[in-house]
Amino acid sequence: MGWNRKVLRVNLTAGTCTPEPLNMSWANDYLGSRGLASKYLVEEIDPKVDALSPDNKMIMSTGPLTGTMASTGGRYTVVTKSPLTGAIACSNSGGYFGAEMKFAGWDMIIFEGKSPKPVYLYLENDNAELRDAAHLWGKTCWETEEGIKATHQDPLIRISSIGGAGENGVLYAAIVNDLHRAAGRSGVGTVMGSKNLKAVAIRGTQGVSGIKDFPAFLAAANAGKKVLADNAVTGQGLPKYGTQVLMNVINEMGALPTRNHRDVQFEEAGRISGEAMHEKRPTDGKTHLVTNAACFGCTIACGRISRIDETHFSVKNSPKYWGASGGLEYEAAWALGAANGVGDLEALQYANLLCNEHGMDPISFGATVGAAMELYDLGILSKEQIGVDAQFGSAEALCKLVEMTAHGEGFGKELGMGSGRLCAKYGRPELSMSVKNQEFPAYDSRGIQGMGLAYATSNRGACHLRGYTVASEVLGIPVKTDPLVTEGKADLVKAFQDATGVFDAAGICIFTSFAWTLADVQPQIQAACEGDWSMDKLNLVGERIWNMERQFNLAAGLTAKDDDLPPRLKTEPAKTGPAKGLVNGLDKMKPEYYKVRGWSAEGVPEKATLERLGL
Ligand code: SF4
Repeated sequence: MGWNRKVLRVNLTAGTCTPEPLNMSWANDYLGSRGLASKYLVEEIDPKVDALSPDNKMIMSTGPLTGTMASTGGRYTVVTKSPLTGAIACSNSGGYFGAEMKFAGWDMIIFEGKSPKPVYLYLENDNAELRDAAHLWGKTCWETEEGIKATHQDPLIRISSIGGAGENGVLYAAIVNDLHRAAGRSGVGTVMGSKNLKAVAIRGTQGVSGIKDFPAFLAAANAGKKVLADNAVTGQGLPKYGTQVLMNVINEMGALPTRNHRDVQFEEAGRISGEAMHEKRPTDGKTHLVTNAACFGCTIACGRISRIDETHFSVKNSPKYWGASGGLEYEAAWALGAANGVGDLEALQYANLLCNEHGMDPISFGATVGAAMELYDLGILSKEQIGVDAQFGSAEALCKLVEMTAHGEGFGKELGMGSGRLCAKYGRPELSMSVKNQEFPAYDSRGIQGMGLAYATSNRGACHLRGYTVASEVLGIPVKTDPLVTEGKADLVKAFQDATGVFDAAGICIFTSFAWTLADVQPQIQAACEGDWSMDKLNLVGERIWNMERQFNLAAGLTAKDDDLPPRLKTEPAKTGPAKGLVNGLDKMKPEYYKVRGWSAEGVPEKATLERLGL
């Protein structure tokens, strides 16, 4: 049946942990993970609630394929209202934590209220208890993992935790699991910190039972794995170079946002690319990359495990960073690198390590540094205000600023607000490269037009994991479309957004979609879950999830005006590359998109659309 049919409700105010049955009617309509947890959130909180008040809830959820033999079936999501965007947040992570929740017998954990003192949830199969976390408060995510495993004398416990960023109200704090996997975006870690919840520690020994038709599931899962293995991206490019395979490709296309999107190509992209991670360093003769790594059940293994150069200025006096650790992935390498004009691979890895250690989203952090560097370049911020000479390209500034933000010191507190609030504070809100206050990821929408529409309309603010039209516009997956035109992008974005909802709800990694379409996932869901999971139904589920999230955002007070891009992308043409002379054509695409969605000109779902989707 895919689901365990069990939800754990944790009331942090009362200190209680109560099991309840999963609402199977909702599971039938929303499948799991992102879809099902969002349904619970929408039903249980006021959309206008202050995201950091006890009245907000935070839901950790698996999907029906989480913990199964489906490739990449180890994902879990964190759903809440975001303090960064004011919109619904759903942040997704791999590693092993999600599968462990399933093995302990649970589909979902709902956290409500606020604990009067720091606690962590310890969950061992059916046994759930809140434990004192006073001794862990102030510790990093890495120290917290180590501490909890030592307390319980069990190295196999899987842990999700927050670091100082989540405790100190950095608005893009992440929840880190398995040391370097994170539910990274939209400040889900900030919400966790506001609830005085330091960590969730899970040990599950029950496996996953109840797959509806196991022989059929095995056949479908194996067929899916073969498709991944035979595909050039998922079978070769991602295992060898990780997501960093994209750095040179996107730069060549003239779509690599550089120096806070002033430029679209980075002259030092090659130095921070996946290829560079394979090259021997002149300093110590070692490659940056040590090996690749996989999340639970993944046959792609895009993860990077790297070792920083011990002689680099950032770590030469800090041996604790010398060991092999997670990173760099493309988005982090871009945000910490090109977005700031920094071409020092070791500095990027150091900043990335601190983001993992202290629980911060490297995309929002790096892009916020990019905005601060532009404010500095324009003379709006001084060296005295920032505390460092923050020129574009300064690796020293990047390393200093990541330390200040992680520790909540000086100007780091302002960086912790995110670029939207930072730029507004200094009178230049248009310099924040964000949508709904969430910073862009690593694609400039002047060179990849569809991404502009995907960013602007994303329900969780600017994001590449809600409608990754890069797959089509750059890589030709599943069909090649011209990245420089706006025609057809409304349909393309809708199709990607809806399909992504299903991948997320199933509990698998969206990177499978470099090779899989929904037709590859459907037989796996059908064989695992009771009921009808035809392609028609799955398409409807994806669209339903999207519209439900939209309804929440509208009720929270967001409007069509929030579906917009910063003026730079709509008025300042790309200076170089294939997109030279182009701006993003959002104003043309957006009305078409609303129409394709069955929404009014104001971006509100029409009655007929809601009825068709059962909303
Ligand atoms: S493709 Fe990469 S991110 Fe996705 S599950 Fe596999 S290792 Fe994890």
